[in-house]
Amino acid sequence: MFDYLIVGAGFAGSVLAERLARGSNKKVLLVDRRPHIGGNAYDCYDDAGILIHKYGPHIFHTNSREVFEYLSTFTRWRPYEHRVRASVDGQLVPIPINLDTINQLYGLKLTSLEMEGFFASVAEPREVVRTSEDVVVGRVGRELYEKFFRGYTRKQWGLDPSQLDAMVTARVPVRTNRDDRYFADTYQAMPLRGYTRMFENLLDHDNVKILLNTDYREIVDVIPYEKMIYTGPVDEFFDYRYGKLPYRSLRFEHETVNQEWVQPVAVVNYPNEHLYTRVTEFKHLTGQEHRKSSLVYEYPLAEGDPYYPVPRPENNELYKKYQALAEERSDVHFVGRLATYKYYNMDQVVAQALSVYARIVGQKRSEATRAEAQRPAAPTVLTPRKERRPAASVLAEAPAVRTGA
Ligand code: FAD
Ligand code: UDP
Repeated sequence: MFDYLIVGAGFAGSVLAERLARGSNKKVLLVDRRPHIGGNAYDCYDDAGILIHKYGPHIFHTNSREVFEYLSTFTRWRPYEHRVRASVDGQLVPIPINLDTINQLYGLKLTSLEMEGFFASVAEPREVVRTSEDVVVGRVGRELYEKFFRGYTRKQWGLDPSQLDAMVTARVPVRTNRDDRYFADTYQAMPLRGYTRMFENLLDHDNVKILLNTDYREIVDVIPYEKMIYTGPVDEFFDYRYGKLPYRSLRFEHETVNQEWVQPVAVVNYPNEHLYTRVTEFKHLTGQEHRKSSLVYEYPLAEGDPYYPVPRPENNELYKKYQALAEERSDVHFVGRLATYKYYNMDQVVAQALSVYARIVGQKRSEATRAEAQRPAAPTVLTPRKERRPAASVLAEAPAVRTGA
């Protein structure tokens, strides 16, 4: 008899499995239909021995000390600040748009102080900022919107920015200085030995049993359990009663090339060329040293594995109907990006899972999470239990950091 059946071994399911097992001594069965733990954050070594992210680049960043400290129990970190270039007008320029982007693109020598004036001269201010078009055009004007955002967004979402909620393009800031980091969060780092190793540590508890390659519907009627935590798509759980909720999918094309480096930074975005949106070169993220390099190209798709909820008013309305059904199910907790139809980053999903756990145990989140830190600091989980990979393909303890990456 299990106390909890947890569907999905991504961040949402794994954090709850960890908390329930370690924090409350509950017996947990964690089921995933994929052949691995980690959900979309899963990483592995490819044939060349290079650590890659199977489902596209995952960069950890958060402003939440609580989330960072919680995960730090299960991994050490490699400091990493993400930098992205966009291929625009035949040049690779910084995105988010900053002082250097404008000077490079237009051959100008503006100073930081002059940048607000520049943006003011091109912006088309909006009284109400409702859509993803409003956000960008209202801040940097139509020309920069078309160079950097319109084509990328149409490719990525199959929709015009005017059809998407403001929050989608608002994820990307605009800067008047030379800061070219993609994120401005307090904590920015990569798990030193990768995400999968961190998940192995999270789930390393006698009370957690893991069943992979299994859709929960194959076992739900034969394995006894008290309550369920569901982290898959919410519309699928209710057999699409109100119709399908749109989720955007991607095709990932991985390749390894016989040269040490291909790109100046980890990610290059292609707003206006190619069918793919961006190309990621993994060694920039992981710090791994290797004479070859592995990259992934992301091709957006309408059908396929669900990766992104699509934030727009009609979808939010449809989600609300599923949310109402979910709220009637006191035996099931719906958690995570797919089950709550929220365009969440990893840290937000961890925070959401910790909040659900706190509600389950009737404590404040800080208390429910801190219980972990107060345990004997769990050094054992930081020591690899056994080496599962050939030594040559394991990241060095202190990987060389490529400066300027
Ligand atoms: P998931 O990771 O999707 O896990 C859900 C799991 O449930 C899956 O493994 C699935 O197989 C399983 N499942 C579903 N239905 C069933 C079923 N019926 N039976 C059994 N198992 C089932 N976030 C960041 O913070 N930084 C980034 O740089 C970043 N980059 C991203 C890049 C891409 C291309 C994508 C798609 C996402 C990115 N994210 C990033 C977001 C991040 O992936 C998510 O926030 C996080 O992985 C969500 O975790 P989750 O547990 O909610 O869902
Ligand atoms: N975006 C864009 N051009 C870019 C980068 C982002 O138009 O060069 C838009 C696009 O709509 C994208 C959204 O901003 O989906 C959010 O970007 P982010 O990099 O956060 O997307 P994610 O990493 O979640 O795919």
